[in-house]
Amino acid sequence: MPDSGGPSSSPSLQVKFWGVRGSIPTPTPGNLGHGGNTPCVEVVLPSGENFIFDAGTGVRNLGIHLLKNRCPCDNLNVFLTHFHWDHLQGLPFFLPLYGKANTITFHSARPVSQLREILRGQMATPYFPVHFDLLAAEMQFAQITGKPTTFGDVDISSFALTHPEGANGYRIERNGAIVVYATDHEHGIPSADERLFDAAQGADILIYDAQFTPDEYPTHAGWGHGTWLEAVKLAKRAQVRQLVLFHHDPGHDDETMDEILAEARTHFPNTFAATEGTSLVTR
Ligand SMILES: [Zn+2]
Ligand SMILES: [Zn+2]
Repeated sequence: MPDSGGPSSSPSLQVKFWGVRGSIPTPTPGNLGHGGNTPCVEVVLPSGENFIFDAGTGVRNLGIHLLKNRCPCDNLNVFLTHFHWDHLQGLPFFLPLYGKANTITFHSARPVSQLREILRGQMATPYFPVHFDLLAAEMQFAQITGKPTTFGDVDISSFALTHPEGANGYRIERNGAIVVYATDHEHGIPSADERLFDAAQGADILIYDAQFTPDEYPTHAGWGHGTWLEAVKLAKRAQVRQLVLFHHDPGHDDETMDEILAEARTHFPNTFAATEGTSLVTR
């Protein structure tokens, strides 16, 4: 469990990793040390209130956890970075959707009507037996804007990343504690890299798409993902406290991940490789 670097009694923000794998679930034995589920990250406040980022297959276990510990699941907020399947595929299995006492708001950069249609579309027949319109939970849809969305003392702002079909990162800030979730981003477009740098400045925890190694990158340029080397460069420049390598390539088994992490740590010692079922805390 890589918990570190903050008063364990009451960290301002806790980040829980429910899915860390990019592109496709890979529950093969060699990958299970880091995890085979696709992206889902939960940010939890000391009060227990939470914010959910992405609904990859990891969101299934989060839904089970929420029903056990927080029922009814009122006022859940799910922020989607984009709609590639690895970030959405767990949604039909997110059990809070099936309880009528639960209320869930989905947030994305798309207009509200588009967001709703996209979510309906992935559960349309013949892809899934339960139609989106029959889900029991009370659902709302919201479009993020240029201004932060405020929930009590938490501000969540968004910024555009470089990715096919577009993706948005999120910066979560509470009482000076900052978590930045920046997955599905390819470095190299200066304006986008600068936006990400601005968002990442001073972060306690920066979660960064490091799918490829620098050796693999040249044959994957344009696929919309980064490398651990770009991650450590950004972490240093933006003076973040903890760097989390995320969106692990399906072909990177635990041994490969350990090598990647060891190499990244020679550049930025406070680096972690996101691991399903673990958490990190801010100050
Ligand atoms: Zn992805
Ligand atoms: Zn993607």
